[in-house]
Order: sequence, then C-alpha cells, then structure tokens
Amino acid sequence: MTSIEENVKSLKGTLASLAKLFEYTRTDSNKAIINDLVMQLLYFTATNGGKHLHDLFPNKNNFPDNVSEILRGATAAGPFPKIADKFYVDGKEGKLSDINPIHTGRPCSKKFKKGEPIYRCHDCGFDDTCVLCTYCFNKKEHEGHQVYVSIASASNEGICDCGDPEAWTRELHCNCEYQNTGKKSKRDVVVEDDLKMSIKATIDLVLNFIIEVMIHTNHTLPEVHKNLKSSSTLKGLTIDFSDDASFQDVEDQNNRSFCLILWNDEFHNYREANDRIQAVLECDEGLAHRVALNVDKEGRALLKNETDIDSIIDSYYIVQRNGLTATIHSSRDYFKQELIKDIVDWLTQFINFPIFEIQSVIRQIFCESMTEAFDTTNTVVPTYLSSISFNLSKEKECFERGLLTDQNKIPRGGLTKFSKDEYAVGDLKNAIDKLLVADDKPLANSRLQYLMYFDVRYWKSLRKAIHNIITPVLVSNLSYKPVFAEQFVEIYPHLLNNRAYLDREWLLNIIQDTTVQLFTCPKTSLNILVNGNLGSILGPVIQLFEKNRSITENNDIIWRRRPILSPSDNISRSIMATESRSLSDIVQLIECPNINSFKEEHLCILKNQNLALLILLLEKFQSNWKIKRKEGEHVLTESTEFTVYFELNSILYSLVKKIGQILLKVNKENETSKQIVTNSIILLNNFLQLNYRKEKIIEQGDFTVMDFVVAKEEVGFMNPVNSLLSYVLEYSKWTDTAILNDKIISFSLQRNEVRHHDNNICDFLRISDISLRAIVLCSQIKSGFWVRNGMLVGKQEALYTGSFMSEGGFLRDIHLEQCSIMVEPSLKRSLFNFLDRFDLLNWFLNKEQIEETKYDEKVYYIIEELIIFFYDLLTNRLPFRYELTEEQKEELKIKNLISFSLCREPLTYSKLTENFPPMALEHPKFYDILQEVSDFSPPRGLSDSGLYRLKDWVYKTLDPLSAFVDSSDFQETANAIRTELSNHSHVKADDIVLQPRIAKLEYPGVFENFERVSKFFKTMQFAKLLYKLLQVSVDTDNEGFLPNLLHLVHAIILDDEISNGKNHQLQSIIEIPICNLLLMIIESQSISQSNIKKAEVILDLLFQKDETIIESSLIDCFGEEHIKSYRKSKPKNGEASESREEKRKRLAQHRRAKIMKKFEEQQRQFANKNKKLLSPESPESSKERNNNAIDKEGDSIMKDESEADESSEIRTCILCQMPENNEELFGLPCFINKSSIFWKVPLNDSAAIKLNFNEWNNQNAINDDEINHGRRVFDEINNKKRKRIDSRESHAEALFHHEASNPTESPIEEHQDNNIEDEGFHDALEHVESDYDDVINAYDDIIVDEIEYNNNDSENDTPMGEGIDIEIDHDREEGHSVEDVQEDYQNHTQQGQSETTDGSNISKEFGKSVDKRYVISTCGHGMHYKCFNQYVKTAISYTVGYQCPLCRTLSNSFIPSFIKPSLPKEFEIEGEPISSKYNQIVVQKNGKNTEKICSLFINEQFLQNLIRPSAIKDKLLKDLCLTIKENQILEKIYSDKTNYFSNIQSLSILIGNTIQVHEITSRFLSKDEDFNEVEISKTDNTLLTSLIQFRTLLTCCKKELVKATVTELMEYEVLWKEKFLHVGLFTELIMLSFQCDESLQTLIQFNVTKNFTIILTSLLDRCQKDDGSITILICANGDEYDCKEDLTFLQTLIVEKFFENKNEYLPELITCIKSYKFNNVQKSKNSFLVGLYLAIIRSMLPFYRQLYSFIRLLKPSFKIKSNDNNHLKNKNDLIISQMKEISSYLKIGTLCELSETILSNESKLEFNVFDNVLHSKIPKFRANGILTLEYSGVIRLIDLPMQLDKFLEVPPAVLKKTDSRATDSGATVSTSSVTSNAEGSLSYTSNPINLQYSICLLCGNKVDLNTPSTLTDQLIRHFLLDCEKSARLLSIFFNPFKNIIVVILKFNSSTNLVSKFLLPSPYLNRHGESNFRRGEFNGLLNVKRFHELNKMWLNQGLYAFLSRTAICSRNVLQGGGINMEQLPNDEFDMLTDQEVGFMEW
Ligand SMILES: [Zn+2]
Ligand SMILES: [Zn+2]
Ligand SMILES: [Zn+2]
Ligand SMILES: [Zn+2]
Ligand SMILES: [Zn+2]
Ligand SMILES: [Zn+2]
Repeated sequence: MTSIEENVKSLKGTLASLAKLFEYTRTDSNKAIINDLVMQLLYFTATNGGKHLHDLFPNKNNFPDNVSEILRGATAAGPFPKIADKFYVDGKEGKLSDINPIHTGRPCSKKFKKGEPIYRCHDCGFDDTCVLCTYCFNKKEHEGHQVYVSIASASNEGICDCGDPEAWTRELHCNCEYQNTGKKSKRDVVVEDDLKMSIKATIDLVLNFIIEVMIHTNHTLPEVHKNLKSSSTLKGLTIDFSDDASFQDVEDQNNRSFCLILWNDEFHNYREANDRIQAVLECDEGLAHRVALNVDKEGRALLKNETDIDSIIDSYYIVQRNGLTATIHSSRDYFKQELIKDIVDWLTQFINFPIFEIQSVIRQIFCESMTEAFDTTNTVVPTYLSSISFNLSKEKECFERGLLTDQNKIPRGGLTKFSKDEYAVGDLKNAIDKLLVADDKPLANSRLQYLMYFDVRYWKSLRKAIHNIITPVLVSNLSYKPVFAEQFVEIYPHLLNNRAYLDREWLLNIIQDTTVQLFTCPKTSLNILVNGNLGSILGPVIQLFEKNRSITENNDIIWRRRPILSPSDNISRSIMATESRSLSDIVQLIECPNINSFKEEHLCILKNQNLALLILLLEKFQSNWKIKRKEGEHVLTESTEFTVYFELNSILYSLVKKIGQILLKVNKENETSKQIVTNSIILLNNFLQLNYRKEKIIEQGDFTVMDFVVAKEEVGFMNPVNSLLSYVLEYSKWTDTAILNDKIISFSLQRNEVRHHDNNICDFLRISDISLRAIVLCSQIKSGFWVRNGMLVGKQEALYTGSFMSEGGFLRDIHLEQCSIMVEPSLKRSLFNFLDRFDLLNWFLNKEQIEETKYDEKVYYIIEELIIFFYDLLTNRLPFRYELTEEQKEELKIKNLISFSLCREPLTYSKLTENFPPMALEHPKFYDILQEVSDFSPPRGLSDSGLYRLKDWVYKTLDPLSAFVDSSDFQETANAIRTELSNHSHVKADDIVLQPRIAKLEYPGVFENFERVSKFFKTMQFAKLLYKLLQVSVDTDNEGFLPNLLHLVHAIILDDEISNGKNHQLQSIIEIPICNLLLMIIESQSISQSNIKKAEVILDLLFQKDETIIESSLIDCFGEEHIKSYRKSKPKNGEASESREEKRKRLAQHRRAKIMKKFEEQQRQFANKNKKLLSPESPESSKERNNNAIDKEGDSIMKDESEADESSEIRTCILCQMPENNEELFGLPCFINKSSIFWKVPLNDSAAIKLNFNEWNNQNAINDDEINHGRRVFDEINNKKRKRIDSRESHAEALFHHEASNPTESPIEEHQDNNIEDEGFHDALEHVESDYDDVINAYDDIIVDEIEYNNNDSENDTPMGEGIDIEIDHDREEGHSVEDVQEDYQNHTQQGQSETTDGSNISKEFGKSVDKRYVISTCGHGMHYKCFNQYVKTAISYTVGYQCPLCRTLSNSFIPSFIKPSLPKEFEIEGEPISSKYNQIVVQKNGKNTEKICSLFINEQFLQNLIRPSAIKDKLLKDLCLTIKENQILEKIYSDKTNYFSNIQSLSILIGNTIQVHEITSRFLSKDEDFNEVEISKTDNTLLTSLIQFRTLLTCCKKELVKATVTELMEYEVLWKEKFLHVGLFTELIMLSFQCDESLQTLIQFNVTKNFTIILTSLLDRCQKDDGSITILICANGDEYDCKEDLTFLQTLIVEKFFENKNEYLPELITCIKSYKFNNVQKSKNSFLVGLYLAIIRSMLPFYRQLYSFIRLLKPSFKIKSNDNNHLKNKNDLIISQMKEISSYLKIGTLCELSETILSNESKLEFNVFDNVLHSKIPKFRANGILTLEYSGVIRLIDLPMQLDKFLEVPPAVLKKTDSRATDSGATVSTSSVTSNAEGSLSYTSNPINLQYSICLLCGNKVDLNTPSTLTDQLIRHFLLDCEKSARLLSIFFNPFKNIIVVILKFNSSTNLVSKFLLPSPYLNRHGESNFRRGEFNGLLNVKRFHELNKMWLNQGLYAFLSRTAICSRNVLQGGGINMEQLPNDEFDMLTDQEVGFMEW
C-alpha cells in the first residue's frame, strides 16, 4: 500500500501543481509540451511508477526514472524533449501509434471518423443501424448481399457493430481477425497484478480529477450564467467561485489573474462572433476571424488573460452584448480545465492500446472505474447554491438547472414513478405531475453518470473526446453493458432535461449517441421494459410535452409551434429537436427489428403500469391538432404548424403498431398473458370512453346518437390511442364483443388488475365516433367543403389518408367503425350516427331536400365520399382476416400498394416508390412482390430508366374502389383497368363490368361478428338509403357518384352470395324497389355506357334471385309490356341497341378528344419553342418528327431520316417541307469541332504498346465473357428470388429477356446487323405516348453547367489556338507554343524518374499521346439554304452555334449538299504516274481527279445550272459564296492567307478525318479486324458525300468563285515541303487526291510508300530508344506467328537502307535482322523480323481500312471478299490477306513487293518517295514528331468492372496505377487487377479508403477530392492539365460513390468556356435506375449503356446528344443561337462538399 497508492496520490498533487509550473498560462507554444508531460506522467503512474513501462512499450528504452525527471524534462531551460524521444509514440513520423483494430472477444465499437466508409449489409444486419467499419468489413462474407456504403460525416456518428452478437443475423468473421491470423503477438503477455492495480488507481484518479474540476466549471449553465451576468457582485462571486475550485487534499495554489473565455453555440454566426471579438480585442478582422474559427472548432476560446479583474469584467459585458456566452475563470482554473483534454487524450490512447491483451485489461478496468460511485467526501460545494434563491424543493430545482445537490450529488427530480398503486381511469386525464413523482431511490452517482451529467458543461472538443471514451467502450464490454444501461436509464431524465433546456450545442448531446447504442439493442431494451424502468424514459418525455405546449383545462395540449422568441432563442430550437428525438428513442426502445424477434416478455409493455404511461403519452396527441372550418372569408395566411404534429404522430403510429404486433407472440394458453391483453383492451376502451361528450336524441327513434358537427366544431385528424386500441383488437384476434362493453372504475398498477363496475354500460359508439369525425373531416375536405381554410388543409387530409400514414390512421379508423357496428346492438343507431356525422341525417329523414343541405352543390361529392366510406366498411376486411399471418397481411398490403400505383401507367422504380411508407419499402419481400405483379423493361438508352409495368393478370384482380385507392382516383383507376382488360379480351372497355373484390372471412368468431356488418348493409334502412341515392342520381341526371353507388350495391349483393349462396333472397333490396331505378338507369339516354352495363349486371343478379318478385315490382312500375320487351330485347350478353351504339361512338370520340387534348398539352411546351420553325403546312409530320427526335438517342434518329432518303433519294427540307432541287442550294447543319480520339502509340508504356499490336477482339468493350458474366450475376439474383416466388410467371425470364432468349447471340452481333438501333427505334415509336414524360424527365438527369475557365494557358490557347494543327516547324523549334511547353511539362512530370535524360527529346520525336483534329458530324436534317437563312441564321455568324430546328443538335456550320447523279458512273482509279518524283507530285494543282469525282457525285443538271449563265446560276453562286464566307469554322481548320485555299484544304482535312473517325469507331464496334466491319452509317455517308461535293465544287467553280489569281503553286509548296502536317497520312492522301493530277492509284502508292517508310523508321528507332519493351513485344508476337510471307526483301531493305550507312543502330538489333533464316528450324528461334513485319502490318492496318472506306465511297461496287474467319484462324493472316486484296484491286504492290521495288528500281515512284522521306522528310521533321505512330489498337474508354462494389475494394494507390490495360488480356483486366491488388494485405497504417474520387474514363487516372477545392475544380484541372487523353477538348469521368458520369468538354475549342454535364451512370440497380439510394453499391454495369457512351464519344455523337438534351431542356434557344447560360447552383458540388450525409443514426 503502498507505493501504488502513494504514487497515485502524488499524481494529483503533480497535476495540480502544473498550473503554477507553467505560470498559469497555456499558450499555443506550450500546449504540446503540457500534453506530452501529462502523457508521460500518466503512463508513468499507471505502470506502477514506471515499473511496467517496458511491458507496455517493448520496443523502447530510455524510460524516465521518476516524476521529477519527467518534470525536469519538460521545464528544463533549453528546448524541450523532442517528439521522437517520447516513449509512448511510435517512432515513425512522431505520431501516436495507430489504433489497433483487432477486437477479439468484444465488439469493435470503433467510432467512425469523418470521411470513412460505413458498411451495412441488408442481408446480414439485424436492422439498418447495424454497421461495420472499414477494418472489420469482410467483403468475402457479403458476396451477392445488398451492401450499402455511406461516408461518415461529422454529425453522423456511430460505432462499428462488428462482434456484437445482437447486431447480426449470423456470425460474421471480422476482417481484422482474418487478416491477422498468425500475426498475433508471439510472446505471451501477462498483465501482472500490481500493474492492474496501478492502472485502476490511475484511472480512478484521473476520472475523479475531471469530475472535481467540472463540478466547479458550471458558469455556462443558463441559470448560473444568468445570475452571474446580472449580479452586482460579479467580481466577488468570480473570486469565490475560484476559491471553491481549489483542491482540498493537495496543494493547489491560486493566483490572482483571470481569463475571459468565449463559448460556442448553435445560433450565432461568424459575423456576430467576429463583431464582438473585434470589440473586445480591439483587433483586426483577420485575428477576430481566427479566434471565431477556433471557438467553432474547439468550442471555446481564451480571449483575455489579465490580472486586472475589472478590465476583464468590462470585456465580459462587451462580448456578451449580442447574446454570446462568455465566462470568467481564474487562470489556474482555466489551466486545470484544459488539462482535462490532455487527460482524455491519454485515456483515449490508453483504452485503444495496441497490445491487445493489455488493451483488454485496461478496458475492463476502465469500465469498472466508470461504473463505480464517485466519492464526494473531499469535494467543495460551489458557492452558487447560496447565491441562487430556491423556492421549491431544492433537489428538483437543481435537477432542472443541471446543478448538483448541496452534497455534490446528482439530484433526483425526473418524474418517473406513479405515486400510487390504484387509479381511477379518469385520473389518466390529469397532468403528469399529479400522477408521477420522482423516484426516492438514490442514484448510483457513478463516475459515468457524472461525466454524462456534465455533458452540457464541456466545450465542443472536450465533449467529443469524452463521448468517444464513454459509449464505445462501455457498450463493447458485454459484462458492463447492462450496468451501463441501468445507470444511463437512471439519469435519462437528467440528460433529456439538459438537452432540451440547457444545451447550447444540443446537436452534440451525448443522449443521442447512447440511445442509439442501447435502445436498439434488443436485450437491453427488453431489460428496461421488464424491470419497470419505462417510467424513467416516458415520464420525462411526457413532462417535456406538457411543459412546453400550452395546455387547456382538459389537459389537452394545444399544438401550436412554440414561438422562437429571438434568433438566440436556442431553447425553443433545442426543445423541438428534443421532442421528436425523444419519441424516436421510445420507438427504438420498443421496436424490434422484425416482428419475429418479439418475445412474450415484451408483453409487459401492455401491463397496466406501462400501458398507463403509454396512454398518458399518446393522449397528448389525441385529436390535439384541431382545425375549425372557416366560413366567410378565405383564410389569409396558412400555417404550417401542423407539420410538427403530423411528424410526431407518424412516429407514434409506428410505435403503436409495434406494440400491437407484440400480441402476435402471445401464447394463447398462458392465462397471465391473456389477462394482460384483456385488461389492456378494457383499460384502453374505458379510457377512450372518457372522451365522450354529449349525445342527442333522434326524434324518430328511441335512441340517441353522438352530438358533434364536424363542420362547426374544432376537429382533429389523428387519434393514436384509437389506433392503439385498433391494433390491439386486430392483433389479439379479438372476437369477444362483450369486452368492449365492460366498464371499469379503477385499475391497479402493481397487481395488473382492473376493477369492474356493475351498473354503467359502456357505449363503444363514443370511441368510434372520434374516429368517425376524422373520416368525415377528410371526406368534407375532399369534397371541397373546406376550401376557405386554404390549401394546406388539403395537404393534411392527403397526408392522413395517403399511403404514408393511412396504415396507422385512416385504416385504423375504418376498422374501429366496423368494430362499432359489431358491438352496437342497434344497427339503425349506427346508420343514423354515420349519417348524422356526415350531416345527411336530415335529408335521409326527409327533413331536408338534397339541395337544401349545408353542402349546397357540393352535396354530390359528399355523397360520393359517403358511399366510398360504406364500401370500405363492407369490403376492407384485412384487419379481420385472422387466418392470415402478419407477414401475409403485409405482403397483401404491399401488393395492393404496388398494383394500384402501377395500374394507370408503367413507372420507374423511383417514381413508383416515391410515396411508399418505409414499412413497405423495407419489407424483405418487397422486391419479390414487385416482380410477381409487374414486368420489368430495362432501359434502352443513355439516360432513361427501367420501367415496371403491371402484369395482365393483376388487372383482373383489382377493385378500383378499394381502400388502397384514393377515392378521388376511382374513376381514372376504373378506366385504366377497363382499358387494360379490354386490350386483352375482345370486349370493349365500356362493356367491361368490374367486380367488387370481397374476401370471405372464415376465422371462427370473426365470421359471426362480421355478419353483423353485412347485415347492416341489408337492413331496410340501408336499402332505403340506397334507393334515395339512386333516386337522386336519376332525378338530377348526376352521374358523379353513380359508379360508386352501383359498385356498392353490387358488392352488397355479392357479399350476400358469399355468406348465403347465390339464391338467397335479399329481402331489403327486393322490397325497396331498387330494381325499378336500375331499369330506369339502363333505359336512360343520358347515362354513360359503363354505368348502364353495371346496372344491367346488377339487375341480372337480382333476377336470378327471385324473378317473380322483381318482375312484378318492375311491372308495377313500368307496365307489363315494357318489361317484357326489355327482357326480350336483352340478349344474354346485353348486346347494345342501335341508339346505344351511336352513343358509344359519341362517347368514344369524346374520350379520344380528351386524350388528344392531354397529348397536345404535353407537346405544347416543345412545340411552342419551335413554333416559328415548324412549317404550317404539315404540323402533323413535324410534330411526329419532333417526338422522335426527343425520344431517341445517338444516331437512331438519323437512321430514321436516312432510311427515308433511301427510298426517295430526294430529301425534303425540314423547314418548308419542299423537296430539294437543282435550283436552290440545299445543305446540312453540321457541327465541326476538334476531337481527341486520335491516339498515338506512346513511348515507354509497354501495356499500351502491347495493346496497340494486339488482336482487337481482346480489346473490345463487350466481349462475350463479360456479357455472360453480367447475365450470370443477374441470373443468380433471379434464381434466388424465383425460389421464393410461386407466381405464375417468373420475372427472371422477363428481366433480361433479350439475352435469355438468344443465349448464343451476343449483342455485338446484333450491332453488326444494326439491330439495336432498329429495335430501339421501333420500340420507341410504339411507346412514344407513354414514354414522353419519361424522356422529358430524363433530361433532368442531365445537368449542364458552364464554367468560364480563366487560366493562363487556355487564354493562350486562343491566339495560338485554332489552325495550329498544321504546324510550321520553326514555330515549334522556337518554342512559341505554350501548349507545347505545357505538354512537355506534362510529359516530364508524367514519365517522371523513369525517363532518361534525353527522354523529352525522344517523346518529342515520337509525338504526344493524342492528336487533336477537326472532325465533322451532322444530324442529317437537310434544309434549303434559303430556309435556313430565314429561320435559323441570325445577324451573327452561325459559327457561334445554332440548333438544328428539328432535333436541336448544336451546329456551327452549314455544308451544302446536292442531289447525286441518278446513274452511277464508273470512276477510274488506275493510271500511270505522270511523275515519279515526290516533290513534283505534291505541287500538282490541277486536281484532275476532282473533276472526275465531281461528275461522280454531283448530277449533271446542277452542274449545268451552275455553269450556264442564268438567274439560277447567279443565285446559286451567291448563296455558295455566302455559305463559304460564313462557314468561318472552315477557315480555322487550315488557316492560310487566302480564304479559298484554306477552305478547300479544310474540306479535304474534314473528309479525311471523318473517314478516320468512322474507322476508329468501327474498331470499337466490330469484333475483329475484318475490313467489312468498317461500315459508315447512312447519315455519315450523306455527310461525306456532301463534303466531297462541296470540295469538288470549289475546284470546279474556282474561276467563278475566286476573283484574283492566286499563287497556288507556292502555297502547295509551302504546304508540302515546309510544313509538317499533323493530320495523319490518310488525310494527306485525301488532300492530295483532290489536289493532284495523278491517278488515285499513283497517289495511293505514293502514300503507302511514305507511310511504310515512316513506320519502318519509327519502329526501328523505337527499338533503339525506348526501354526495349517494343522489341520484346515484336519478337514475342513473331514467335507465335507462322509467317507465310517471304520477308527476304524486307530484310535486305532494312539492312541496306538503315544499317549500312548508319552507326546509330545497336549491334544486337542488326544481328537480329541479319540472322533471319528461312529454314523452318531456325525460324522459331529468331523471329525478330517476322515480329517487325507484323508490327508494320498492324501499324498500316488503320490506313488500309480507311483507304477501303474511301474507295468504297468512290466505287461502292468494290467489296472485299468476306472471309470466313474459320480458315484464317490467325487474325494476322486475315489482315494480310485483306490488305493484299486491296492492293491487288488498286494494282499497287504488297508491302514485301514494295520493299523489292524500292530495292530494285530507282526510277520508280516508290524508290523516290522512300528515298525522299527517309533522307529528307524524316530528318527535317524528326523533332516535330513525324515518327509518331498512330494508335492501331482499339481506341476506347477504360474498362469498368462489372460490379460497382469493386470500387469499394480499390485502395486509392492501386487505382491510380491501374490503367485497365496494364495486364494480360482485354476487358476483364481491370476487374482482375483490382481484385488481385485488393488481396494484398491492407496495411492498417494506411488511411482508410476514401471514396470521394472520380476516375477519368479516358486515361484511367483517379481524381481525388482531398484538397480544399471542389471536385469540379479538380476535374477541370485534370481536364486541362493532367490528362494526356482529354486534349483539353473532352473528358469523361466516373464518380463511383455518387454513381454518375461527369462529362467536361468544350463545345467550342477556341473559347475558354468549359461545360460540365452530369449523365446517368452505366451502373444500374436491378430496377434499371442509376440513382441509387444511400450508398447502395450493388449496381451492375449496363454494358449496352457503357458501350453506347463509348461509341458516342468516338463518333462525336456525345456533342450532339448533350446539346440536344441538356441545352434544349434549359430552354435557352434564342433566335437560333445558343446562349450559354451559367447555372446558379452547382448540384454536384453541393453533394460533394457535404460529405454526403444521407445517413442518420
Ligand atoms: Zn469495426
Ligand atoms: Zn471487427
Ligand atoms: Zn451480408
Ligand atoms: Zn426549305
Ligand atoms: Zn437535326
Ligand atoms: Zn484523364
């Protein structure tokens, strides 16, 4: 006893002395030292004076020997000990050692840090509150599960439930355990007893220290603060307070200086705080701002520290002038308070100690210490007790003010116990303080309770730190958890009181943290209920409501919003927050995750003691939101106060339902349980009877009805006690009607008894009438009787009856009305009461005429509602279907909910479930049911969603008057059902009679009871009512309620048949001559067909019952003849008469007109915008086109247009609808922009190089494997579901019907046939009507944003910008281009260290990774230039941008287009070379080819018109000139001095580039390298044709167009000799083709040779210069390939031309080439040459494919033989054979022959070109990148894994490196690499996964959001600077967490305007939607959608798509130009910056 005790005791002294040691100041500079000192001291003491420090820190030495050494270390004169010396920190980085996540034997309970992912599994978790942290989540265990991930935010605190047996439905294997098996510490850690003892003593001491200091830190408590502030003796009090705070048992010197502290609160803003801080500190704004920030961060800040207390006091008043809170403490006290933070730091570290065994001991001891009582012996009672005047019981006062008692104990004061045992039922109406008292049992007064009670005294940062050591630790210790729960419940009243009234920062209150942990734990909450502690929770809550809401004499709460008195009235805010919070606590306490986990013990909730409490609570809400009907003036201002009441009530509804469900678990045999249930019914029943007010006598009868007028008195909607009674009746399967007639006078709490009363008889009508009032109120509101009360009354009604709340409200009320009929002896009384409440009794009794009621003309609507009410009474039998289990009932409800929501139209999942109650959505079988009743059609395009369509058979089961349908929707629903049924039968919709659906009740007892309800409808009185109603309808010709009425009559007859058989006489209906009225209806001329049909069916049913009586009744009325003729004329099926036929026609027309009107309405918006543009002649067709345009995406729409072309060839102007002709200029709106899809083969990137030479089918986005994989996953899901569904149709088939039906056919093949487009198109047409809205909605998904990006580089882009693509070499050398500098910088940074010194030169030689080239696209909507000019063009040039008048595609040019000659002409390709010299060819300028081509493309007539002088000629030329002039964009493409020259070159470039685009696209779309896969779509063909026409026309009309003579020759010379063209060799060919006089054959030979030379040089040079990977690759490829070619000449060529004269080639390379042997033995060993040959072939491949397209344009008859790929197994053989075929067609040599020619014939063109290129061009343009190789692989977006949740596994570092193509083969790469990387051990020291990133789909890089800037900024940065593929033109990002695609692009490459679009993600959930909820990560890649995105990126469709959809929807069309609008709010960023806090717990 020791040294431990002594040590510990001296510790307190040491801690107390620190203040003095540091001279009573804690500053920024010494706080780290103090912290370190405290850490050392505490570790030292806790290890028995340092004895066990070595056990704790085995890797350290250099421990201090004694305390004074520690102190000396800290106070030594010199610099303080370095951080690295601290023994308690990990040596690395000087950080505290990381938290050890291992938690063997206890729950993990790790608290989530901001930004960390939180995992929850729907399949494994007990409920939604069960979560896992990133360390524990074991992916493998949840494969195929519904896993949700969210990101923790600051306010979103929770702890990990891993290892908590109650949280999971099965045993989970923690990932930390899994990762660490075998890694456990090798040595056995034994914690010795003395260590344990000193740990205990130290923890005790530090906890006591905290409590003792906090006892005296009460200045901020509102009461204390108020008193201090207003006290005249503030100075004295302050000094007294400080004196009190001195420790008594150790020396604790005070000094005479004081601190002014400013505290944080939730209701002042920065500005206010800044203002006051500046006033006090007299400082600048900057400092004030920093202080204010500190206040917000830490929760408080020191403003002043001075000895002059008077000055401090002055400042004290100044700073608080606007309501801020400040306090004054002595400097010593402030120092001690801050010391607490250090101590808590140590505790936090200590309980998370890395060595697991020691940690367990510490945690155990910590829990023990926390739950022990705090000893107050040595503490001083603060002076405030004498300074505050108490009036009532002192303890209660202290309780309310958050103070301690005069013994420093926690006060008692919460009302928690009933004061007596026996109560009269009426007592429950008393105020709570008359019933409940505080428990007189003393509290535990444990340290824990103190620490929690003081929660409102801490400042923010301390508060958070303390929370972190309380709940997570105590909850995770399973043996202390019950103790914790008990102690927590004890002070729950305190905490609730503190939170509501005392907390400045109520959002941080500890009560939230803790209830979430304790009340959601079933075991703990059951304990609370069973131990009779419910009062501790409910008592204070009830008190809270009573105290803060005004109360009437009846003790009714008046539900007015508590007024917020001032901005600083935090009390009102905190109270309101506490109110709803506390109700949720109660729900959590009583709720079980699912009803099966209820145990019989839960029944104790219904024991009198608890039930009385519940009644007390619920009663506060009983009809307590009262409204009164307004008469006279319309209400002026509407109040939204009801929302609070409605919200709280909806919480209560779920509470009462849960209570009811407990009854399902009651053992019927158990007498005690039975008694509890019976007693509870009686008690509830009797309690409710007290609401009875008055009865009135009905004169005609001998009975009374309730006296209440809904329209006159205050009336409310909700009655939770009624709901509770209803639930209890339903779930207890009540059948004993006598119970409800039992009357009691009193009940006993303890014995759980009720005492009966003999005399008084109960009257259940009194209860049911309360419910009835709510029903009538709703009916009146619906009928428009309450309009004067404003719109919000309707809102309240809709809430109450809507599916969201009706379950607990409206449907309960109906149930009680049914019960009321069963219990009430007089059915007449029931009826009269109903009618009286509806205010229709006087009419019924003939005292009023129908038009005389108070409803006036609204009476018909009220009658409609009344009928529906009766219908509900008769048919809504679900609560009585006792034979069903609760699950079955729930499923039925959900089925109804879904069916009725879908029956009118198909909906997306989001739309469908928009208003569904969470109970339905969270139901485990929700999805199964959805599948059972509906068919799913997956989305078709880039932005639509999947749709659910109700199955046919479901329609047959629907009753439109069901209680699940809003009564006002009856007619529409009925029509929808009829229409649908008629679609599937041959009956007309009007002839279909819908049957009422009535369930048969069979359960013993309930059947008999319900018979009374049936009987009610068969009474004479009720039949009289029916008769009167029918009469009204017939008399007034009012059909409004007739359908409902007939349906009710129908239902009554069917109900009778169900119980009594078909032939049972329906006395009342027969006696009262209802049939007469039915016949009148049938014969009426004005009543609609459907009602007549219905009446006929009913009359038939009646005839079947008793023909004679009915007939005689009818004859009496109508005469015999009439009836005979009626019966004769009426065939079996009631064939309609002639006149009826006419009427039906009339009605049908009427309906059609109505539908048309509706449709027109939908279109109006769209049509309006285009009104001017639409031609008046044929609005119909334009309208249709418009629809198509909107409906479809991509180029399916253009397909439409061009297919029309095919039939006619002559196009129609979309504006004037006239056909094109040869006299007017016709053209296409086109969009010209730069594209970045022209990839280059990079250097030193072996993966990319490998892919470049790889076979394409491995690279395609969709390969069969992946498709199959996708299907398999879905199938798995479906199979699982299928087992559970026993429906007739399996949804699984339907889900992916497409693939499922063609298992062998992959979507790729469909693509080849263009099936997808076709299918989408027809499909779309069919559903054009129904989908219209969806399409419009889809636009909302696409969010456009314009960002003007002003940074230097892009500004520089402008002057340099356009026309730079053909670069002049010296330009580059001089380094003028900023772009180049930037790119060099980029290259440099990207290739980083791996680059050699001359790396940058190399990369320059081999070019950049992407070329930007101009390309053109069109929507294909041709128009006359005249019309275009008139309608579209504005004053400004159209280069700025305009929208196609039809489809709104953004366009910036107008390309003339002419009629093609009708007879195809032959084009001569062949021809002998005129010249064989390179330099001579390139300056040929006559363009002889052009003339030939011209006649091929332009019809004779037009050419004639253009040449022969006439008015037409002048007009055409003028228009042509204008077009050229205004197509300014063309000049940008190739800028040159002369307009004409740049135009023609631009057109050539566009033709070449556009052919390239389509070839590149075809690589992606096609399966392999087969040339025949290169198909150009019709629209693009038209576009290319037009371009060629335009181009040739410019040459042909040169003389007409160009006035001055131009120096063309010189221009060509400059162009071809001086400039280096970055347009690619194919485009060069096109340029030459239009320019030169040589035959095409010659030019091709020329170009092939040039190409070959460059490629060969480049490849050889690369072998030299890059890291050798390419060499390896080439050789590797060659190895596998069995080359059939003779490569001798190639070998010789290389050796002679490259190696002979040059020394720069490596000797090895030379040997490789030279040693090539042709005998087969050697070949396999040395195949370098073969590999090189293949590389050449591959590199030439794109050129040949492009060439093929071009030739096919000129000679459509040419087609390469379609090779059946079977005999050419190797793709290389295929390529070679196809290239040979082209060569032979063109009569040019193959590559081998070319080598031979070059070698052998110096006079040939080939030789000359080779020589020139090799020796002149390459050296000259080497530095300009002439050796750049075009990428010949598949150009496409990076691969995405099939499953979205793969992104969860990817540690950020891995992803960054994952260029998806980095490894093996093709498409599955990214998936596999991700997996393999994820398998690598997850280091705990690494940061947890941060999910807030985006991936660039172009380059595969990850863009993080870790910097303060917004994610959009980061994306733009990547777009502009970092991305090597975006080329600053277009980037596509994917954000996995938000599941969204972000497109950033420039519509105009010459401006700085960057646009951002959000597109729906390709990952869809099973509902075909991409808008996932709450971090749902179970999406699957929709391959088609991703494929579509990829394709549109390649073929430029994305610009068109985005401009069509997004810009149009923004409605910014202004005179044809596009106004780029800045959007006000950035939704995307809003989401990002708020760390996605969509979770709350
Ligand atoms: Zn965990
Ligand atoms: Zn775990
Ligand atoms: Zn799971
Ligand atoms: Zn026209
Ligand atoms: Zn268009
Ligand atoms: Zn990128």
